[in-house]
Amino acid sequence: MKERFDHIVVGGGSSGCVAAARLVSAGARVLLLEAGYSHRHPLLDMPPGIFKMINGSKFMRYHKTLPQPHLDGRQHDIPQANVLGGGSSVNAQVYMRGRPADYDEWDVMLRGENDDPGWSWKNVLPHFRSMEGNNRLLNDLHNSEGPLLVSDPGHIDDLSRWFVQAVQAMGEPYNSDFNGPSQRGVGFYQFMNRSGKRSSAAHAFIAPLQKDPRLEVRLHARVQRINIENARAVGVTYRDEKNQERTVFADGEVILAAGSLVTPQLLMLSGIGPAAQVRRHGIQCLVDLPGVGENLIDHPEVPIVSIANGRYGYYKQGDGWRMLRNGLQFKLFGTGPILSAGVEAGAFVNPMDRTAEPTIQAFCVPIVYLDRDTLDLLPNTYGLTVTTVVVKPKSRGFVRIASANPADMPLVSPNLLSDPADARMMIESQRFFLRAFQTSPLKERIREIRIPDPADLSDEAIIKHCKRFVKTNYHPSGTCRMGSSRDPMAVLDARLRVRGIEALRVCDLSAMPNINAGNTNAPAMMIGSRCADFVSGHVTKAPSPQPLAQ
Ligand SMILES: Cc1cc2nc3c(=O)[nH]c(=O)nc-3n(C[C@H](O)[C@H](O)[C@H](O)COP(=O)(O)OP(=O)(O)OC[C@H]3O[C@@H](n4cnc5c(N)ncnc54)[C@H](O)[C@@H]3O)c2cc1C
Repeated sequence: MKERFDHIVVGGGSSGCVAAARLVSAGARVLLLEAGYSHRHPLLDMPPGIFKMINGSKFMRYHKTLPQPHLDGRQHDIPQANVLGGGSSVNAQVYMRGRPADYDEWDVMLRGENDDPGWSWKNVLPHFRSMEGNNRLLNDLHNSEGPLLVSDPGHIDDLSRWFVQAVQAMGEPYNSDFNGPSQRGVGFYQFMNRSGKRSSAAHAFIAPLQKDPRLEVRLHARVQRINIENARAVGVTYRDEKNQERTVFADGEVILAAGSLVTPQLLMLSGIGPAAQVRRHGIQCLVDLPGVGENLIDHPEVPIVSIANGRYGYYKQGDGWRMLRNGLQFKLFGTGPILSAGVEAGAFVNPMDRTAEPTIQAFCVPIVYLDRDTLDLLPNTYGLTVTTVVVKPKSRGFVRIASANPADMPLVSPNLLSDPADARMMIESQRFFLRAFQTSPLKERIREIRIPDPADLSDEAIIKHCKRFVKTNYHPSGTCRMGSSRDPMAVLDARLRVRGIEALRVCDLSAMPNINAGNTNAPAMMIGSRCADFVSGHVTKAPSPQPLAQ
């Protein structure tokens, strides 16, 4: 007996969960195949669990980059989720959409196409708003009634407050809403959680449908390839938890949402991609799409790490008494550092032209913190890390298949900071935020800036520091980009359909023509929501109630 569904969604991450849930709500029978684990685990719910995710957990898959020639051959990790909810189950929960110009830029790239639904800010805002359940804001930009719980930080460490004040003392405005009319300034982020519990795509969109017979979620189901007959996607083949191969069929569509590193791999394994590359691995090429796996964009992140002159901030390994106290405070009163994912404050600035559109995002983390491949270089003590991120990088990388075997991880080369414009911006951002450490009221709490060396802020010294420490801000995007029919590297049309194959769409971050300025979880959900509209014919409208008129 063939197992048949209306639609099959491949990958139960941020975008896949939203797409599946919205298709079910529109009346379809949907199979959601997720390679990873269940999202029900206390470590995933608790905001500080993020540090375990970054540094070694079964809920993650650690892609290693190819040696990066411009980083003296260095390889770095790109951790990606391996759990229902995807990135939204493991991330730092910062709620960010990017700015209207990000989407207006996509709209221009796609304009004039047949059947173009529009990707401008006015087209995407109803999706952001309909999902959002904000605990402070309700206005033309924000909604308080949606299923994705968005909250002010549950706990703010003193180091974060001093950082916010120091950057104000440097002349930046205080921003109370980075998703508001202007991104510029310094302030506290909002988070996708409530009362210390994560609001992932699995919690917000899948859990409410748990008893709905139209939705079937299969965990530990790693898809191997899309099955294509007569240029139409008819289903997929996956391996289940016993490593048995299974094939399932879609009467409607197959929707790929396995993330920017795996979605292009699955397309290439199915014969859709650059012909020479696909054939090199003995795979029959069904559609020659040279853009599959190209245009990999990620936000490069470089840290400034300091040591505090007191027991400020959160973490020092072996300080069992403090951890016990934090745990007890949370258990007894529901308050304290356990409500914090580490990052609480941040900034959007343009260090080269202070009043122009921000080019840099900063994250303030009151911990001596690096990724697992560099962490051993730092002392185990209390301190503050500020990471600086280029928000509209020009550097581009790629994803390729290593072989025809789906079990082999794809080859990934993000080329972070390879474009000189990105390197320039990163140098200026490091200089700018180093000054924050030397500005009151932060400077009085800092014993020492550990990296980079504040005594040598020459371009050469900062470049050396960047080469050693640049890494992903966890936002790989763009590897199957939407584009116009005039764009030979476009993989998808403006309705997320894979060119040359019927009934096949992509709804994860790989669809992005360019990356948004800021974190990417909410944008991934927005793309998933739009995809469901395209498939079902439903139109998501700006939610009511609208704010009351004065
Ligand atoms: C450590 C970390 C911290 C982050 N912090 C933030 C933050 O604070 N704020 C923010 O906005 N963004 C953050 N992000 C980024 C954000 O979470 C991601 O950009 C977003 O989740 C991407 O959504 P997606 O749907 O494209 O992919 P994902 O959410 O990664 O979903 C892909 C899903 O596909 C599954 N999958 C993979 N291969 C297969 C296969 N072969 N078969 C079936 N399933 C498969 C994966 O297990 C995963 O669940 C962070 C990400 C990480 C990793």
